[in-house]
Amino acid sequence: MPELDLWIWIVIAAVFGLLVGSFLNVVILRLPARIDAMWRNEAREILALPADESPLPPGIVVESSHCPHCKHKLAIRDNIPLFGWLFLGGRCRYCKAPISIQYPLVELLTGVLSALIVWKLGVSWATLAGLAFTWLLIALSGIDFRTQLLPDSLNYPLLWLGLLLSLWTMFTTPNLSIIGAVVGYLSLWSVYWLFKLLTGKEGMGYGDFKLLAAMGAWMGPSALLPIILLSSLIGALFGVVLIATRKLGREVPMPFGPFIAAAGWVWFMAGDTLLQAYLNLSGMR
Ligand SMILES: [Zn+2]
Repeated sequence: MPELDLWIWIVIAAVFGLLVGSFLNVVILRLPARIDAMWRNEAREILALPADESPLPPGIVVESSHCPHCKHKLAIRDNIPLFGWLFLGGRCRYCKAPISIQYPLVELLTGVLSALIVWKLGVSWATLAGLAFTWLLIALSGIDFRTQLLPDSLNYPLLWLGLLLSLWTMFTTPNLSIIGAVVGYLSLWSVYWLFKLLTGKEGMGYGDFKLLAAMGAWMGPSALLPIILLSSLIGALFGVVLIATRKLGREVPMPFGPFIAAAGWVWFMAGDTLLQAYLNLSGMR
């Protein structure tokens, strides 16, 4: 059991995590629209078409929150993470339109996972790194679920941070971090091309390779195979549930990023324990 001191930090992390979660909601909603607008403008430039004069979609920091349905500005009390949504019963105060369950879910998830990071890593530099790891993964997963995209503007910072932290051998050594990043990228890249040559279909995207590269940079190459196996397992379970509840047709593409993210996070937190349990089970210890 953690000491009282640590419990206080765990509670602080949970509350702070709820707040970060409501910021991540904004990132998840607004970043794809901005990236899309920038791509359109670049494409027009390349095609030598006149520039699109319409303003860019709202930025992440500047605009205040409003109801997406009636555009009414939200009061501070409605913006309280998790509880704002619960008190309103999941409906807008003004127009009674339902508010997406994404908001409280992302906030709750961020709060719980942040608390778990502090519980596992204590109060240390590694905890700060672990929180950044967790928050970037939540933003990436949310965006991938909504748009089937893993933006470079989140994927790359995750990768660079993993490489950088290895300089202090925080989670792995510099050598293993570099090898992990390269092997992580190339392994999914080869699967992608093999799959494409054999079936003519694209099973995943380049964002997935970069995300696995980031996992390799954070944890070294030995984490890659377990992460892939775990992510396939989590993805398959999720897919079966969705198909069984008829939320998803068989032909609808499923994002792979959230499952790499989930598996990577689980391995980051409990890789040693899981490996030991596996070795014990198979009698190889
Ligand atoms: Zn409204």
